Amino acid sequence: MTNPHRSLGHIRLTSHSGGVDAPPIRWGAGTAAERGPVIGTTATRAHRNVIGTHSGSYSVYRAVAVAAGALSREHRADLTDTSPTDAIGPYPQWGDPSAIVSLDPWGASVAESFPTEIAAGVDIRPTIAVTKAHVILPEVTEAIASGRLVPDGSVLLPSGAALVTKAAVEPVWHLPGVAARFGCSEAQLRRVLFEETGGMYPELVTRADLEVFLPPIGGQTVYIFGDPRDLADPTVELTARVHDECNGSDVFGSDICTCRPYLTHAIEECIRGTQRGGVGLVAYSRKEGRALGEVTKFLVYNARKRQTGGDTADQYFARTECVAGVQDMRFQELMPDVLHWLGITRIHRLVSMSNMKYDAITGSGIEVGERVNIPEELIPADARVEIDAKMAAGYFAPGPVPDADELRKAKGRGLNG
Ligand SMILES: [Zn+2]
Repeated sequence: MTNPHRSLGHIRLTSHSGGVDAPPIRWGAGTAAERGPVIGTTATRAHRNVIGTHSGSYSVYRAVAVAAGALSREHRADLTDTSPTDAIGPYPQWGDPSAIVSLDPWGASVAESFPTEIAAGVDIRPTIAVTKAHVILPEVTEAIASGRLVPDGSVLLPSGAALVTKAAVEPVWHLPGVAARFGCSEAQLRRVLFEETGGMYPELVTRADLEVFLPPIGGQTVYIFGDPRDLADPTVELTARVHDECNGSDVFGSDICTCRPYLTHAIEECIRGTQRGGVGLVAYSRKEGRALGEVTKFLVYNARKRQTGGDTADQYFARTECVAGVQDMRFQELMPDVLHWLGITRIHRLVSMSNMKYDAITGSGIEVGERVNIPEELIPADARVEIDAKMAAGYFAPGPVPDADELRKAKGRGLNG
């Protein structure tokens, strides 16, 4: 292994001028060529036209791989045979600079859009990848066994596998547009991003000419049931859920919240809707624990279960705010971008009770028909605290909303129960 410190040479401060050879980014332009490529390479500094680098939070692992001598910083991705399995768009929303501000709508097709630049040695990487897959869940197998789902050989196989097109999307932020979504100035957003990351990206405050930031955060994955082109057709019934990551429930199974049961219910609804001639969508965002992270989440669990009077719905949000300082950091303001990327103008059945998600989606100009709640029988006993608190706080509820007396009752189990 070579000594990486010796080969890296002196440090090049990112705040130095540079990028004179970099092509401009015209956010919201109508074609990929007019918009220009997003170039976050660290190999040739002069080509860079963004702040930050690719792969979201994984950019840190890439740096470690270079430091450990396992990866050459000159490595270029060989994009042979990596192109999308399904063409997504382009849609009119792609040409509206305010409709999409947190992802690159042209991010899946860089190899086709910029072959000359790539052939000339410019390191242009996809920020979106589209593939086909099977989704295999025990809940779907159980739905088949109980007769709620019937395999048809195309949407749902007899084995229990559901056929999907899925897309992974990395964050690409147009800072003027992100600032506008949050009602702050771009200068204020840049300064706070710089300060609150411990000064990680000096260009945020020194390079006002660079308007695009590749933030070191998790991205999202969309799962599409049926033909992806139908998502943009408002006459085709669309069943959709926008889901925020909850590792403890989604992957490991937990009784303290409704995340996995609601997610698997949405997948069941998507399969049924697609079998009716519609199309289904689950958009999954890496925003663990209301984007507060699992450490905060587990601290809150303890505080809820140890407080005087036990785990009650009326203290549910207060306990989070005590630990985190806020009730929620998910900021659904950016969430509809992925729906606009898919060309969606109408969601016929939104599988969510969240008023924040509903308001963000409808506020961005997408119509929502019916809202589909989680069936009562899918709510774990210990999760009654969460669902009651959310309904009382404004979540969509098809039945009666719990009153103050109801919210004061301890419904969560103890820590050792
Ligand atoms: Zn959860």
